[in-house]
Amino acid sequence: MSINFSDGLEEIPVVTSSSVLPEDVGEGSLRPRMLNEYIGQEKAKDNLSVFIDAARLRNEPLDHVLLHGPPGLGKTTLAAVIANEMGVNMRITSGPAIEKPGDLVAMLTNLNEGDILFVDEIHRLNRAYEEILYPAMEDYAIDIILGKGPSANSLHLELPKFTLIGATTRSGQLTAPLRDRFGVTLRLELYTVDELRRIVERSADILGIEIERDGAVEIASRSRGTPRIANRMLRRVRDFAQVRADGVITKDVADMALSRLEVDKSGLDSLDRRMLRSIIEFYNGGPVGLETLAATINEDSVTLEDVYEPYLLQQGFLTRTPRGRCVTRKTYEHLGIQQLGQQEIDI
Ligand code: ADP
Repeated sequence: MSINFSDGLEEIPVVTSSSVLPEDVGEGSLRPRMLNEYIGQEKAKDNLSVFIDAARLRNEPLDHVLLHGPPGLGKTTLAAVIANEMGVNMRITSGPAIEKPGDLVAMLTNLNEGDILFVDEIHRLNRAYEEILYPAMEDYAIDIILGKGPSANSLHLELPKFTLIGATTRSGQLTAPLRDRFGVTLRLELYTVDELRRIVERSADILGIEIERDGAVEIASRSRGTPRIANRMLRRVRDFAQVRADGVITKDVADMALSRLEVDKSGLDSLDRRMLRSIIEFYNGGPVGLETLAATINEDSVTLEDVYEPYLLQQGFLTRTPRGRCVTRKTYEHLGIQQLGQQEIDI
């Protein structure tokens, strides 16, 4: 078996990163504002529209909502859509940004009736501060202890009726008491190629980019089921189209540009390929535990699990078994590696 590990030394092409990058600053203009502009996630949208209509009918704020799914799938966007549909304001913060209990108390007490408080990465909220949220979510009130020792006083503060929307990439890390206080839990799924094609065409329209349908399909099928990546690829491919072609994004232009960015036909980047090759090279196709694999390729196991695995699992390049991760026949074929033995899981 001959494996070229040289690409392990290359830099990971950031175009496929699902985290927010500096080049995504213009992302806001591409965000859909209302539910009917929000493409895909039909199941989540269906449920949500019922809850929104019911809350509007009763003239009450929406129940607290937990959104979970990999980065870049539209959790922040959906929260803003909910705020627009409900006609209320949204305040945004994130778990790690809340550094002291006072930060959270200030956010809560500054809300107006019906407002939405969006807490991104809510699983990273300090456990000790979570307890402030329990009565806030349940009874719209908080109790603050002022001072210390025998002279300490407790202050009961009523809050306006608000909606907490929490977003997380790892709902398993939420404590049970916090998770139980969300009335609505919506899981966002990776997008299909057709949905991403519509997202790419919509974004091209907003940005004034000329794109052929096949060009949009090419970008869609290489963007790991993730709108943030699709939009970023669209901008990168536009650069190629303007410099190397006549400005129009065709299938060929998209293909050329994305191959240069080292995103292959299946949307895999060099880290995906390195991960899959390592399973074959060092563990004979698996099973291998996540931590072991992460150590082998010198990557963070959380990043592998949250960012890389969902797409590889969805595409059938990887399977999860109780004993660890395994590659599939499709992986051998894709990487052009001949399979030795029968270790792979046939799917
Ligand atoms: P998350 O909060 O899950 O990381 P975001 O809500 O920030 O993801 O979405 C990233 C980008 O992807 C947004 O700027 C938006 O333009 C685009 N996007 C996400 N979901 C959709 C969708 N359903 N339809 C159209 N564009 C979307």
